Amino acid sequence: MDVLVIGAGPTGLLLAGDLAKSDVDVTVVERRDRESHLSRAFSLHARTMEQLDARGLADELLRIGTRVRSLRPLGRVDIDFSGLRTRFPFMLITPQWEVERLLVRRAEEAGVTMLRGVQATAIRQDPDGVDVDVSYPDGATATLRARYVVGADGAGSAVRRSLGMPFPGKPVVSSMMLADVLLEREPDRILNLAGNEHGFTFFAPFGDGWYRVIAWDRARRVPDDAPLTLAEVRDTTRRTIGDDLGMHDPRWLSRFHSDERQVPRYREGRVFLAGDAAHIHSPAGGMGMNTGMQDAANLGWKLAAVLQGRADDALLDSYHAERHPVGRAVVRVSHALLTAVTARTRLVRALRIVAGAVAHRLGVVEARAARGISGIGIAYRTPWGAHPLTGRRVPDLRLAGEPARLYEALRQGTFVLVGREVAAVAAPWAGRVAVASPAAGLRPTLLVRPDGYAAWAAEDPTPEEVGKALTRWLGEAPARRREPSRAMTGRRHAPARH
Ligand SMILES: Cc1cc2nc3c(=O)[nH]c(=O)nc-3n(C[C@H](O)[C@H](O)[C@H](O)COP(=O)(O)OP(=O)(O)OC[C@H]3O[C@@H](n4cnc5c(N)ncnc54)[C@H](O)[C@@H]3O)c2cc1C
Repeated sequence: MDVLVIGAGPTGLLLAGDLAKSDVDVTVVERRDRESHLSRAFSLHARTMEQLDARGLADELLRIGTRVRSLRPLGRVDIDFSGLRTRFPFMLITPQWEVERLLVRRAEEAGVTMLRGVQATAIRQDPDGVDVDVSYPDGATATLRARYVVGADGAGSAVRRSLGMPFPGKPVVSSMMLADVLLEREPDRILNLAGNEHGFTFFAPFGDGWYRVIAWDRARRVPDDAPLTLAEVRDTTRRTIGDDLGMHDPRWLSRFHSDERQVPRYREGRVFLAGDAAHIHSPAGGMGMNTGMQDAANLGWKLAAVLQGRADDALLDSYHAERHPVGRAVVRVSHALLTAVTARTRLVRALRIVAGAVAHRLGVVEARAARGISGIGIAYRTPWGAHPLTGRRVPDLRLAGEPARLYEALRQGTFVLVGREVAAVAAPWAGRVAVASPAAGLRPTLLVRPDGYAAWAAEDPTPEEVGKALTRWLGEAPARRREPSRAMTGRRHAPARH
């Protein structure tokens, strides 16, 4: 097989679906034998919604989720998403299992082989591929071989351990309580987060009457497996926000702790780490699942391009180069949000709130936070082009004709060339690039990567310049390719160099 993805969480599922859509032979092994109906994550941010839109999945989630226009983690400071220039200027509250359900459906429809109840136990790689030892529920074992392996197997990643990859960082908060409950009284905001000298409590609605409560009692430290009762959650909530909102009938009670950690390398030879296997932090800001899915969106098209001979191996190094700094920034932002709500003393909390109020007056800090948390502000530093748009997120441009939006055009899973009178130049790459004309007003010609970032941009390029960019990113045009006899030239076409 071409790619073995280990773990069918949101990261592994999105990646496997992308690969299969690009005709890559992909198998997923997942140790759970059925889908999970317990949700850790419950928020989707704007950039992830855009990625889902580019796969035709966002509208279904919009119908079931609850939109939250702003977060208020620091007293008066509002992290307001409503000013973001995106089709999704909000955070969407929806349980992780709904996201996974859509991703499973898409992956299966695209032809992914799903092996459920199968656990990866060890990996070994050589220059040509990777062997993965797996165990089946009946105790049988086998070794699967793939050209590439992606460890999307979560925070305790067996792939990471098998690589001997360090996971540096530290625990940041312990003894957090999680309860999914019904309420007698609704909170006054959709998302409620408040804290005092006793700890903090956070409420979020699932949209179907159930609420997620995360509560933390500063004075109580117990192991994650210590039994948790609703009475303890109610008591903490009353002491931290003054009201337990009449919570009752919990369907899930659990304790958890959070570490902040990140691997130093996202790639080790033929093995990649993505999602929680590569980076973890507390739920503050609700960014973990979002970041993992965006790792997957970055890696999928690159693996497909290399496997299909359209790009050389160096393109795969850009996965680490682009996504590691994003992971580091996410850990930092999440840390800042967490420390704001867990500050030990009134004085420190007050100072943070004052700092927050100053930031509020400056406005700019909140705007940056909204762009950071939502993922809309992510841009990749790339050595591949001088135009200022290169490496930047391309917004959902209006197009002339059908499809009417860029993110609809991206649903084919290929690059999209947006420009005027470029169709003839791009024709030899049919199947590797979709061509779209911009609606009035857009100047530069843009080559948009399948993950929605600009690979190349130019003002009024010549056909030769467009052709050069296409060759660089899509490989030699199949229709143009002449296979000269090796006897005549002694050379073969090399894949595109990046
Ligand atoms: C309380 C809480 C609230 C959160 N809220 C949010 C939020 O609102 N928004 C957000 O973005 N994030 C949130 N997160 C984080 C989010 O849940 C994770 O970041 C996300 O699940 C990571 O996805 P993943 O696919 O990388 O890993 P996972 O979801 O952990 O999936 C890994 C998969 O791999 C499987 N697996 C593991 N080991 C093996 C093996 N050896 N062989 C085969 N399969 C294996 C597992 O069974 C699992 O299905 C929250 C986390 C917690 C704890």
